[in-house]
Formats: sequence, C-alpha cells, structure tokens
Amino acid sequence: MTIFKKIIDKEISADIVFENEHVLAFKDLNPIAPHHILIIPKKEIATVNDIDEENDKVLIGEMFIAAKNIARKLEINEKGYRLVLNCNEDAGQTVFHIHMHLLGGRKLSWPPG
Ligand code: AMP
Repeated sequence: MTIFKKIIDKEISADIVFENEHVLAFKDLNPIAPHHILIIPKKEIATVNDIDEENDKVLIGEMFIAAKNIARKLEINEKGYRLVLNCNEDAGQTVFHIHMHLLGGRKLSWPPG
C-alpha cells in the first residue's frame, strides 16, 4: 500500500484542499513552489502506464478539472501554473500511485532538469 492510499483512507493526515468521490487534492509535504498541490485519483493506479483506456477516461478528466478549479481558487490561473505527472525511474517517480503536481506562484523554468 502506498502513502497516498493511507492519505485517501485518512490513516495519515494531509492538508487537503479538495475532495470528491473520485479525486483528492492535498498540499505536497516538500513544496518546490509557493503553490504545490498533488491531485490524485482515489482509485489505485501505479503509473501513467497503468491507466485503463476504457475505464479511466472520466477519472483522468476529473483530475484535470480539479486542477483547473484549484488553480482558479489559488488565483494563479491567469499568471500560469504547471501540471506534471512523473512516470517511472527516468522521470523521478517516487510514489507509485499516480499524482498530478500542480505547481505555481513563481516563474517556472523550461526545460525541466
Ligand atoms: P513524485 O516524485 O512525482 O513521485 O512525487 C511524489 C511527491 O509526493 C513528492 O513531491 C513528495 O514531496 C510528495 N509526498 C510524499 N509523501 C507525502 C505526504 N505524506 N504528504 C504530502 N506529500 C507527500
């Protein structure tokens, strides 16, 4: 079981900013930007490679809808923000429950390291 499943099950605490039936969003423990939120599906999906083409379409859409609504609430929607999903070793994925990083509140460089 991943640490994020424990957050979903409320076995460990997190600073939750949004929750509905399918999606949970909370503040990253080690923020790398003034605003750093993680948006996760409640369904356990290990990596982007494991997204089910038939069954997960709506769920993945819900993650993006949550991201844009949170960005608006944080008032970073106009200035801009970045959504990132790391997949496996080369991208530096450390928690094997998919999570969308919402990063904002400062100028973000490109390309990423
Ligand atoms: P990734 O490297 O894409 O797998 O990102 C995992 C992220 O989860 C990192 O940014 C961590 O800081 C964050 N993280 C790990 N444990 C927790 C936790 N208990 N609560 C909030 N964020 C966490």
